[in-house]
Amino acid sequence: MEILDYFPKSDEVQRLYCNCCQKHLDLIFSNFHEVISGIDINIIGLPTLHCGHCFKDYLPEDSKFAVIHLHEEAIKNSTNKVKVKRNKTNQNFGYGIVPFIYDSDDYKYIPGLKRPYNKGFLTPVFFNKEVLLKYDSSPTYRLIFASTTYGEIRRGDDFSMPFGLNNSGKVMMWLGDIARLPESEQYYLRSENINSDHSIGSEFYDGQIECVFTDLSKEDNLFKLRSGFLELCFHKFGMKIAHLDTEVFDLSVSFNAPIVDTEKERRHVADTLNKIYLESFDKKTLGTIVKTLGGNTKDLGSIKLLEKMIQLSNPNVDVSTLMSPFYILYDLRVAYSHLGSDKGGEERLNFINKRLNIKSKSGLLDIYTSLVGRLHYSFKELTKMI
Ligand SMILES: [Zn+2]
Repeated sequence: MEILDYFPKSDEVQRLYCNCCQKHLDLIFSNFHEVISGIDINIIGLPTLHCGHCFKDYLPEDSKFAVIHLHEEAIKNSTNKVKVKRNKTNQNFGYGIVPFIYDSDDYKYIPGLKRPYNKGFLTPVFFNKEVLLKYDSSPTYRLIFASTTYGEIRRGDDFSMPFGLNNSGKVMMWLGDIARLPESEQYYLRSENINSDHSIGSEFYDGQIECVFTDLSKEDNLFKLRSGFLELCFHKFGMKIAHLDTEVFDLSVSFNAPIVDTEKERRHVADTLNKIYLESFDKKTLGTIVKTLGGNTKDLGSIKLLEKMIQLSNPNVDVSTLMSPFYILYDLRVAYSHLGSDKGGEERLNFINKRLNIKSKSGLLDIYTSLVGRLHYSFKELTKMI
């Protein structure tokens, strides 16, 4: 290689996407060893952008300048070999009351984060996923999901803070945003704060830095609609009618549409959808709301309570059609867990297909497509009614 190759070209803008596969790059600290215009240069721990998919490396601009600088020094000192160990920047950007763990190299070397103002604001700070569950169950804060891996934490109508999940399931927020939180919240967040893994490529990064919103999968979209419905219910009734726990949240993030129709997959799909879309409803809170609206809650399960809550708020509308996918989802799990036994699994399945208006012997893939479509529609319409 020649040293001229290391001078950034004026028309080149560094981005977080691999030139070959367009996937996100990760920041790594690698051992750089090249002979450049006759000088053997070895740098230990040089910030490098790495594609984990095609194993291609790219040098950030500042790393290129480090190489150029060492090359110049070697020429000045008339040597043809140079070996250095790079020290991390470890800069404190001075945000927040609590000393958070973050890596200032992330801000300096991940493309798109540096700004001429508010230095360090867009430094990613990493947390355990449990952080989100705390805000989900808090009476003052709400979680609003734009997909299963991107959303915002809201308080009242005037405070909102974006968050995202990276590929390894770590929660990311911006350092500057965290500093806007009350002191007690900062202390709480610090207790779940973990080291950066320098992998920031996510819907959160695309949305926040590139202002690009990728098309959502059907599953992500449904989760988003659920979130929007819950948020409106909160505004109307002042209470959260559903909560996530660790298991359900993990399921939501990892859940994909079925591609095979096996007994195991049938159970998995029906179980997962039940956990996310039915079991996460808070029966006690729904009961309280129904009572406030003047309804009777005796012997009612959460789907019935939900239906009653909506019906009492819209006395002139028949909500049974909109509620039907929730009942079908419940029946689907029962049907799939009793298939092959004499407990009427087959019969239930036929009844499900009939209500979904699909062929009587339809398998998992058709049922899934139809049911998820119906749930989409119901969440959309129910949200309008709230
Ligand atoms: Zn690649």
